[in-house]
Amino acid sequence: MSETLTELNFERQLSPEPRSAAERQEILADPGFGAYFTDHTAVIDYSAGSGWHTARVEPYGPIALDPSASVLHYGQEIFEGLKAYRHADGSVWTFRPERNAARLNRSAQRLALPELPEPAFLEAIKQLVDVDQEWVPSGDGESLYLRPFMIATEAFLGVRAAREVSFRVIASPAGNYFGGEIKPVSIWISRNYARAGRGGTGAAKCGGNYAASLLPQLEAEAHGCKQVLFLDQDNGNAVEELGGMNVFFVFRDGSLVTPALSGSILEGVTRDSVLQLGRDRGMNVQERTITLDEWRDGVASGDITEVFACGTAAAITPIGMLMDETEKIGSADAPAGEVTMAIREELLGIQSGTVADRHGWLHRLA
Ligand SMILES: *Cc1c(COP(=O)(O)O)cnc(C)c1O
Repeated sequence: MSETLTELNFERQLSPEPRSAAERQEILADPGFGAYFTDHTAVIDYSAGSGWHTARVEPYGPIALDPSASVLHYGQEIFEGLKAYRHADGSVWTFRPERNAARLNRSAQRLALPELPEPAFLEAIKQLVDVDQEWVPSGDGESLYLRPFMIATEAFLGVRAAREVSFRVIASPAGNYFGGEIKPVSIWISRNYARAGRGGTGAAKCGGNYAASLLPQLEAEAHGCKQVLFLDQDNGNAVEELGGMNVFFVFRDGSLVTPALSGSILEGVTRDSVLQLGRDRGMNVQERTITLDEWRDGVASGDITEVFACGTAAAITPIGMLMDETEKIGSADAPAGEVTMAIREELLGIQSGTVADRHGWLHRLA
């Protein structure tokens, strides 16, 4: 670990050719998701000998990597995702970033990467948003998506934890994810593929988990579904999560249920926030095993009244139907549920500064 971190000063090398205000405005008018990036990136390098060093903000651009860098061969990589929101008074805030910092370090542990002290994580984000703050959009539901990531850069083909690593943050303006209208999505049940197994990397936010989810995702899309549901097939078809979002069930009796963290489920910051908002609403909040059979029977009996997915990118998304080749649970054109939408409004309201931040979740960036 590096004792120099409290002294990490970010050198600032400004882009010689940032986008003009007109170019930026054109991008911000319809940013979509993940397609455009701001003019700068924050970087902190690590080497086993000297710890974290050379913190800087530099122009956004390609990374020079040795072709033998371990990230390219063994996938030693982790990432995070959070957003910066512009409030009505022009200030810029992010949501529970200390949770992302802590999770990055849990992922780092699992992937044998060095931990990055929380102050350095927060400062990297602050530095980047400060220099690129014009890129934080102000429209309803819009944000600047922040993507911190850590890669093994050491040039060495031997199989072991790399001794040289780079931590970076890039930022991408994000539009209103659903263009204003919230439509329940259909989800495909993955029977042939698992996302994670016991002792695997399911609880870590690493690129490898996503690589493994792309084939089932193609299968889902071929059947007209937006996302994949992964099950723990060794455990009575316990519901785990979607490829990149956690899952919640609203019961007629006022319970709010999400699968318990099992070691193979990613612990979402949104998940944790929804649990709190559920408690605040006086709901009976439960983290427990919920199987595909319970889902099917609950929808059929009316005990389960709403199902939704949650994650930073899309906040809260109602799930209308769950399906595979043999069955359909729910209905593709079910309306978005009331509880789902109320929790969604409240969460987005806190993030955008229109609902009181009673849990102290917001962190000012600019
Ligand atoms: C990032 C992620 C989530 C959602 O986490 P948030 O912190 O709420 O954005 C859920 N599942 C997986 C697999 C993820 O990678």
